[in-house]
Amino acid sequence: MSKAFLAGRQPLWALRDVSLEVAPGSFTCIVGPSGCGKSTLLRILGGLDTPSSGRVVMPEANGRIPASAFVFQEHGVFEWLNVFDNITFGCRMAGMRWAEYTVRAREWIQRTGLRGFERAYPHQLSGGMRQRVALARAFALDAPALLMDEPLGALDAQTRLLMQEQLVDLWEAERKTVVLVTHSIEEALLLGDRVILMSARPGRIKDELTVPFPRPRRLALERTPEFGALRHRIWAALREEAEMSALAR
Ligand code: ADP
Ligand code: MG
Repeated sequence: MSKAFLAGRQPLWALRDVSLEVAPGSFTCIVGPSGCGKSTLLRILGGLDTPSSGRVVMPEANGRIPASAFVFQEHGVFEWLNVFDNITFGCRMAGMRWAEYTVRAREWIQRTGLRGFERAYPHQLSGGMRQRVALARAFALDAPALLMDEPLGALDAQTRLLMQEQLVDLWEAERKTVVLVTHSIEEALLLGDRVILMSARPGRIKDELTVPFPRPRRLALERTPEFGALRHRIWAALREEAEMSALAR
């Protein structure tokens, strides 16, 4: 598919001939320079935007509404709702009954370590806890696909490492289809089955690689030479694109 936005009278091609197949239950990470169309791609996958040409097919969704749940980098929690109401928001919007969404919320509050904070408001929570609320909401919805746009990008380094482990644990237990956009090559290698590299605008798929590391993965993996070699390979490929996109600014 391709996607153009109008910039004055000119079309601005955000995505050009992107073709991507994602296996059900797999974890795909997308990395690419800023402005290459990663968020646009994710929004189109989630039905929040439409492609200019081409289409998205989700046989796995099989008519289920919603077919996907989003986790954004920031502003993903509603400040005026407490933790419980935030987590159940998607379920309530999807028309789920009280009896069901309460059970789901309890489960996900437990699994994301938010017990005791059900009645707290987002401003009373740390950045990591706020993102756990966003994750709990997405998982509670039980959509076949989770679309995450730099979900850990705004966290401090240590919180981010802990959250990476938590996210991977949750995913290993649930095996949702995940497409996650990240700036971090390390994060992509730690979380993903596959890493998709996008080129500078117009975004295309420049390369993709299968992550060879067995699961469960732990942070210690980052210290192995194999990890270092892959990180270097991705960085070399991305560097060119990052420089091009910096020049275009
Ligand atoms: P990324 O997430 O990789 O940083 P985006 O998908 O946000 O990139 O944006 C890709 C390109 O499309 C950018 O040049 C951006 O300015 C442009 N763009 C994104 N959304 C819109 C929009 N709604 N209207 C016009 N241009 C947009
Ligand atoms: Mg983005």
